[in-house]
Amino acid sequence: MRRVPFLAGNWKMHKGPKETKEFIVELFAAIAKDTSLKGFLKENKVELGIFPPFVSLETAGREVASADISLSLGAQNMHWEDSGAFTGEIAGKMLMEVGCKYVILGHSERRHIFGESDETIGKKMNKALEIGLKPVLCVGETLEERDEGITETVVKRQLEEALRSLREHENIKDNIVIAYEPVWAIGTGRKASDEDAQSVCAYIRKFIEERFGSTAAEGIRILYGGSVKPDNAKGLMEQKDIDGALIGGASLDVGSFLEISRNT
Ligand code: PEP
Repeated sequence: MRRVPFLAGNWKMHKGPKETKEFIVELFAAIAKDTSLKGFLKENKVELGIFPPFVSLETAGREVASADISLSLGAQNMHWEDSGAFTGEIAGKMLMEVGCKYVILGHSERRHIFGESDETIGKKMNKALEIGLKPVLCVGETLEERDEGITETVVKRQLEEALRSLREHENIKDNIVIAYEPVWAIGTGRKASDEDAQSVCAYIRKFIEERFGSTAAEGIRILYGGSVKPDNAKGLMEQKDIDGALIGGASLDVGSFLEISRNT
């Protein structure tokens, strides 16, 4: 089964509306000049996505909607309720209203800096899928856990909790993206080796097969994230079970984001 590679730029807390618009204008101008990438995007052979901060999503949504180049839009987090007394939170339906197709859930910065639990991530997963927003579910171990040799145990627990209430018949292959992001590789310049990243992504695909069947496992996209840069993307993208990348720092610059995309 052909899986469309997905290059997703997680901008974290960077770029307000003005810089977001400038980025998108520059990105579209660069793609317009690159006939091969433009063709790939048109033929759905590769998918590019950006995940700006909340306040920049409406601007991004407007730019994306008025362009003839395909660029997916996603948010970096959401709440698990549709509305209510949750000061400072954003509902998934609000994200969809400004053009979001995706939402990152369970990013390690949410888990480790803001104390998000497997349980709350599970609730957010359920809500996103209920309303038609596609989660990019992040899983990954800390350095201590890797050194202890419990990477698969940790990833398994995170997957089990996040996917607990989904049933086998649910179309998870088209509606969920999983990103393997070892915590120690995020923002550190220390990328996992291609082989280690492949090994964990293969483990994730096996987990999906056991839990949801072979169609889901063959179709679901599994990304690697953690210090992906233009000069280290190619080897990763050649791995059998890696279908793209969740890119932080290197996605903030049009040139490096596109260079990574061309390595796919
Ligand atoms: C991320 O934020 O998900 C990420 C992978 O960051 P970086 O590429 O900067 O390591």
